[in-house]
Amino acid sequence: MLVIGNLTIDDVVLSDGAVRMGSPGGNAVYAVLAARLWNPAAGIVTRRGDDLPPGILDELERLGVDTSGVRAVPGPTVRNWVVYEEDGRRHWIYRTPRERSLEVAVRPEDIPGEWLGDDPPPVVHVAAMPLTAAAALVDHVRGRAPGALVTLDTHEDWAGETEAVLDLAARVDVFLPSREELAELAGYDDPARAASWLRGRGVPAVVVKRGAGGALVDTGEGPPVEVPAVPAAVADVTGAGDTFCGATAAALAAGLPLLEAVRRGAATASWAIAEFGSLALAGLDPVSALR
Ligand code: ADP
Repeated sequence: MLVIGNLTIDDVVLSDGAVRMGSPGGNAVYAVLAARLWNPAAGIVTRRGDDLPPGILDELERLGVDTSGVRAVPGPTVRNWVVYEEDGRRHWIYRTPRERSLEVAVRPEDIPGEWLGDDPPPVVHVAAMPLTAAAALVDHVRGRAPGALVTLDTHEDWAGETEAVLDLAARVDVFLPSREELAELAGYDDPARAASWLRGRGVPAVVVKRGAGGALVDTGEGPPVEVPAVPAAVADVTGAGDTFCGATAAALAAGLPLLEAVRRGAATASWAIAEFGSLALAGLDPVSALR
């Protein structure tokens, strides 16, 4: 299965102001690592700048992720400076300008053709991407591999683009918005009602992410089903949604029905947020890093 999304370099700002360079971040990295836990053939399609610290791709490969879809583009990789709070949330104090993020958004021609055969049809997860880039990718995958199962995560920049988002969500198999995003799309905050409204607009299946409140799954077969979150001693919530989506898509690729796949997504997200995952990826000891 394929995860298409962005790759960033996340530099951690320590409490003494020192900066530790270069843990791999971005939705594609969290999603593909979660997918790889459940799928021996998980690959990533993303773009990297020419400043990617050596070792990051090697590390992904060592973990069994196929990186043949990582394209090098001139200029910097998207770079963020992050500060951790005691409650496991993190804040960005610097983010690469949006124009650069658009420049390095994955394009259809980046996807290695061999991933898009129809025997067997692939599972393709499109992680949070700029809207026009996501739409082009979904159409390309649909054209090349008509039997593909496509899952789609949302992006914060999609706010206000209601019609275009609805149009895209109707062209995938499983759409995974957060509760807030769904409320904005549908115009009301009751997730069950909003999900059913989305289905009425042609979205085949809706999985609503509700943080510690779990997820709601609406496939149109009977009433929507609540999938509880798996309680976690939260250390680092970074990538909870990305991890949830990647693991859910990988479980679909393993042939599980959607409800079972979402249960696996919830369990994987819970496990991931109980660890200082992104600090560990940066080679940092979380206790001393946060002190
Ligand atoms: P996003 O990061 O996209 O907003 P959420 O925060 O809703 O996504 O998280 C996605 C999933 O991760 C949730 O549906 C839930 O299963 C799990 N999750 C998130 N936060 C917690 C938490 N505090 N405790 C347990 N599970 C959580």
